[in-house]
Amino acid sequence: MGSLNEESFIFCPELVYEQSEFVRQVALVCDAAGLIVSLPNTTGLSMPNIVRLKNRALLPGLVNAHSHAFQRVIRGRTEYRTPNIKDSFWTWREMMYSAASRLTPEDIYDASRMAFLEMALSGITSVGEFHYLHHGPDGTPYEDPNLLAKEVVRAAGDVGLRIALLRVAYARSGYETEPNPQQLRFIEENSEVYLKNVEKLVNDLSGSLGMAWVGVAPHSVRAVPLNYLREVVQFAEVRKLPVHMHVAEQEAEVSACIEEYGRSPVALLVTEGLLSERFTGVHMIHVTPKAIGMLAAARALICACPTTERNLGDGIIPANSFFKQGLRVALGTDSQVEIDLLEDARELEYHLRLQKMERAVLASTEDNGLSAIAARLFASATVSGAESIQARGGTLESGSPADFFTVDLNDPSIAGASEADLLSAIVFSQSKAAVKDVVVGGKRIVEDGRHAQQEEIVERFKRLQKKLWG
Ligand SMILES: [Zn+2]
Repeated sequence: MGSLNEESFIFCPELVYEQSEFVRQVALVCDAAGLIVSLPNTTGLSMPNIVRLKNRALLPGLVNAHSHAFQRVIRGRTEYRTPNIKDSFWTWREMMYSAASRLTPEDIYDASRMAFLEMALSGITSVGEFHYLHHGPDGTPYEDPNLLAKEVVRAAGDVGLRIALLRVAYARSGYETEPNPQQLRFIEENSEVYLKNVEKLVNDLSGSLGMAWVGVAPHSVRAVPLNYLREVVQFAEVRKLPVHMHVAEQEAEVSACIEEYGRSPVALLVTEGLLSERFTGVHMIHVTPKAIGMLAAARALICACPTTERNLGDGIIPANSFFKQGLRVALGTDSQVEIDLLEDARELEYHLRLQKMERAVLASTEDNGLSAIAARLFASATVSGAESIQARGGTLESGSPADFFTVDLNDPSIAGASEADLLSAIVFSQSKAAVKDVVVGGKRIVEDGRHAQQEEIVERFKRLQKKLWG
């Protein structure tokens, strides 16, 4: 206990989730720099700055590895049928673009802050923002080419979340496809311009003390031609940055890639040597067993976004095959149709149950204990997410950032759970209302289920929605 001093904060909940189980009589000690110093036994512990968290279980903060924050503005506005055409991802995308083309920098800040507030209230402590709005509505770059990225970073900082700004490279509408004027805000036609802007953003965020950092995100094989893609991945390789890319979300995207390159998107990435342990393929729905084997050999990550994928009718992610091959699967709230990462976690399992008409699909033969599937899903929502966006943390241990959330053990959705089944209750049944405290770097950003700026953030967002939609 020698490292404790008056600058240490000690959080004393009823239960702590440590090394895949809930333990009693353990405190979390955090230093003035926001790092976990130790997780000591609470017997006889008497220190200043004790924060007692009665009837609460404390868990590592959730990591949302794939977000488009501004898409929060179209929530509830796309759930209807378009006359005479089959509604799909592609019709939804047109509606999303029409909103994207109208947002000012201030609007992007307000929309992002709303999305990040809801993330914080649900236990998310870090987010990977796949950011592709770069220019003014007519495609003219702002004086600072990263103005909009910085508005998103500012929004995350003001809410108190850590953010990996995954800056998107977008060059074209698609292979042999006419330019789409709705994409003018995204496009940086060549890799030189894109990489110069990324480099500038890396420098500009370098003083953020671990709260904001940069990754590269070639949008998709559809939007970034091969030479451009190679240069972006090479740049990330030199600087060891995370690389995120939408891969195989839609069958049409896979067939367009085969038409252009004679290979599927995964085969293209493998044969070009573009996969690595820092590569996350977002969605990865329409992939063959052979492709899954290649992803595993490259130690790439997957980011599943099942609430969005079901909303868009994308398909079901083959998470059972991914886990069987030892692949790490992170989770993302993507379109923000719903912001509840534990709902994404349970859907990984539930969608496969519906497809296969059986239960416990994601259990492995070695699994025992009531919470084995939940532990796997919870690791997706924490450890794998952190690895995907290169956030430190994902688990509670000495030296890691003090990023965590607590749940009320008396919340009706989980009340009565024992230590053995609590994780399953949290992963499969917990209501977001059970989340009471959220702490990032030792700082309590949500207290008793409320965020200090909540009213103001909501009011400003309501004003923005009125302006956009009347
Ligand atoms: Zn996405």
